Amino acid sequence: MAVAHAANDYRLGAQAVADGVYVFSGRNEHFTRDNGGNIVNTGFIVGTDAVIVIDTGPSLQYGEQQRKAIAAITRVPVRQVYVTHQHPDHYLGDAAYADASIAALPATISAIQTQGNALADNLYRLVGGWMAGTQSQSPTSTATPGVVEIGGRKLRLIGTAGHTAGDLMVYDEASRTLFAGDLVFHDRAPTTPNADLLQWLNALDQIRQIDFKVLVPGHGAVVRDASAIEQTRDYLQWLSTSLHTAAEQGRDMVEVMNQPLPERFQKLAVHDEEYRRSVSHLYPAIELTTLPRR
Ligand SMILES: [Zn+2]
Repeated sequence: MAVAHAANDYRLGAQAVADGVYVFSGRNEHFTRDNGGNIVNTGFIVGTDAVIVIDTGPSLQYGEQQRKAIAAITRVPVRQVYVTHQHPDHYLGDAAYADASIAALPATISAIQTQGNALADNLYRLVGGWMAGTQSQSPTSTATPGVVEIGGRKLRLIGTAGHTAGDLMVYDEASRTLFAGDLVFHDRAPTTPNADLLQWLNALDQIRQIDFKVLVPGHGAVVRDASAIEQTRDYLQWLSTSLHTAAEQGRDMVEVMNQPLPERFQKLAVHDEEYRRSVSHLYPAIELTTLPRR
């Protein structure tokens, strides 16, 4: 017999990264009709009587398939979902968890309430049928930074900003695993549509101080050292400096978009498209606040 749902199967396989901690790794690509939006890392933590899910992926179908893949590993029910931030690839699977608490930072909740439908519509255009039945919905509760205990797992919720106005990280004390959300990218160019680069660099300083053994970036392979933090910092620092320098030199946006990236960033997945997007997001404001030296 043919396998059902083969057309829209994300083929999610959980990878154990620590004791009771699992990650679903997405591809280091842009949204396409081939990947169905599965370009993101999500994960879960298994406690004694509760599973905690971190991000639910780009669509309802992803959320449902994620839930099935979790059930294949443990009979413990999902009771808590944390949404790291407002970007649609991280939370549009929330509807698969209608019976769980879904929490996010206040800034994330308000961004989802005001921009969520537009972001979901945009994903429909990019990935098509994979989005069937998907609707943006607001998280059901507010995540309060600090230590919480769920299912016997002590979690530290860390509220920061920079990638967006609200970036939630989840740190599991027992395994010292840090789910860093999109504050950390690995071998993939960071996205900046809602970024504040200075805040983001400050957040990376904060992440450096965290005593983690495993770091799960929002995009790219899981790491056990600071390399992905340093890579993200290096790229953002370069981006900020080069955009400010270009504005001081009075260069126009097209010229800035066409400048070649340093060689060390050319190995980052989708660097070309993301760099151009970043210039279009960030350069106009930088130009406005910079007096050209001419
Ligand atoms: Zn993001």
